[in-house]
Amino acid sequence: MNLKKILVASSNPKKVREIEEILRPLGIEVVLPPEKVEVEETGTTFLENAYLKVKAYFERFGIPALADDSGLVVEAIAPLPGVYSARFHALEEFGREEPVPDADSANNRKLLRVLKGRGDRSAKFVSVVVLYSDEGGLFAEGEVRGRIAQAPRGDKGFGYDPLFIPEGYEKTFAEMEPQEKHKISHRGRALRKLYNLLRDCAKG
Ligand code: IMP
Repeated sequence: MNLKKILVASSNPKKVREIEEILRPLGIEVVLPPEKVEVEETGTTFLENAYLKVKAYFERFGIPALADDSGLVVEAIAPLPGVYSARFHALEEFGREEPVPDADSANNRKLLRVLKGRGDRSAKFVSVVVLYSDEGGLFAEGEVRGRIAQAPRGDKGFGYDPLFIPEGYEKTFAEMEPQEKHKISHRGRALRKLYNLLRDCAKG
C-alpha cells in the first residue's frame, strides 16, 4: 500500500485533529468522512473495535480508511476503563446512561472518585490503529505509561488528558503543546509504527 490520502474513520473531532497533526509531517493527507457512520463498538479489545470502525467506513466510502481505538488502562482497576474509556461515567450505573453534556469531565470525575484513597495511581494510554483498503489491512499499537494526577490540570487535548502525567514528566498531557504530546503519546507511537510498516510494504 502506498497511500498519500487516508479517510479517518472517526466522528470525534479532537481525535481527528490529533491524527491529522501526527500524519501531516509524514506527508499523509487526512480526509474527513462526508458523513458520520454509526458503528456499534461491540468488541472487547481495542483491535476489534478499531477493525469494526475501519471496515464500516471503508465499505461506505470506498477510500482507504484509518481508525484509532484507544483508551486509558488504570492499574488499580485494570483493564478498566479500557474499551469503556469514552463511556466510563455511565458504566455500572444502569438507568443513568443518558448522554451527559460533558462526558470527558464526567469520566474524569468518576476516575478520581474510584481512585480516592488508593495508593497505586499508575496507568497507561493505549492506541490501536488499523488501516484498511481493498489491498488488505495493517495495524499497529502504541502505548505510553504514566500516572493519574490528584486533580485535573490544563486545558489542552481531550478526554483524560488533564489527569494523565506521562512517565518522566510532572505536567499532564493537557498542559503540553500538541506536538510535545504527539512525540510521546500512544497515538503518536502507533501512527508512526503504522507509517514505518507502510514504508516497508512499499519497498516490497
Ligand atoms: P474511542 O473513540 O472509542 O476510541 O474512545 C477513546 C476514549 O479514550 C476517548 O473518548 C477518551 O476518553 C480516551 N482517550 C483516548 N485517547 C486519549 C488521549 O489521547 N487523551 C485523553 N483521552 C483519550
